[in-house]
Amino acid sequence: MSTVTGELPTRRKLLLGGALVVASVAGGLYPRWARAQDKVPFMLPKLPYADDALAPVISSTTFGFHYGRHHKAYVDNLNKLVEGTELASQPLEAIVKTTASQPDRRGIYNNAAQDWNHTFYWNSMRPSGGGEPTGTIADRIKDSFGDFGKFRQEFITEGTTQFGSGWVWLVQDKDKRLKVVKTGNADTPMTQGTTCLLTCDVWEHAYYLDYQNRRADYITAWLDKLANWEFATKQLLP
Ligand code: MN
Repeated sequence: MSTVTGELPTRRKLLLGGALVVASVAGGLYPRWARAQDKVPFMLPKLPYADDALAPVISSTTFGFHYGRHHKAYVDNLNKLVEGTELASQPLEAIVKTTASQPDRRGIYNNAAQDWNHTFYWNSMRPSGGGEPTGTIADRIKDSFGDFGKFRQEFITEGTTQFGSGWVWLVQDKDKRLKVVKTGNADTPMTQGTTCLLTCDVWEHAYYLDYQNRRADYITAWLDKLANWEFATKQLLP
């Protein structure tokens, strides 16, 4: 089982020009975490934790298959599908947004969106994370949901009731309020002009080896022990 190492550099760290820094702060060309996804060939993002660092909530076996096989397959498929097309010169986020409304390019959209979603998911968790946040994100959750407990219950319920494969998200909507939304299969709120803050993968491949059919237990443990509130805070728009 390979170990994934190296701090995820922020978009800002990689930028040399002031204009691009401004673009990044203002919402940017693409998210700060997506450096490995800027151009073809796309690659699996390097992660700042080892494959067993999320255990026991997510075992190294689940992690190994999910990251090394499922996510890698999306990346490999995407590279093959965009080869020779005008999309090959586009960053990942642009490919997702462009193909979201093109039914004849469903294969590209599915693999690109799944690459984006999974990269966001790996960043949405960390060892010894989870629980009730403090600071700005805590205030925003209180403003939007009433209290953290109400948000927590809604996140778990929405993720559990997503029928079939999909994702549950904490997002910041265009009106700046925080909301919990769920999406099916590869769909992602970022194509709707919504700012994603945190996501939990509720496809069976994300939890079945560890929890079998107990999806609610997986989402609960994920939120209570792994959620990366520092990452969510960095995504917030002012
Ligand atoms: Mn997945």
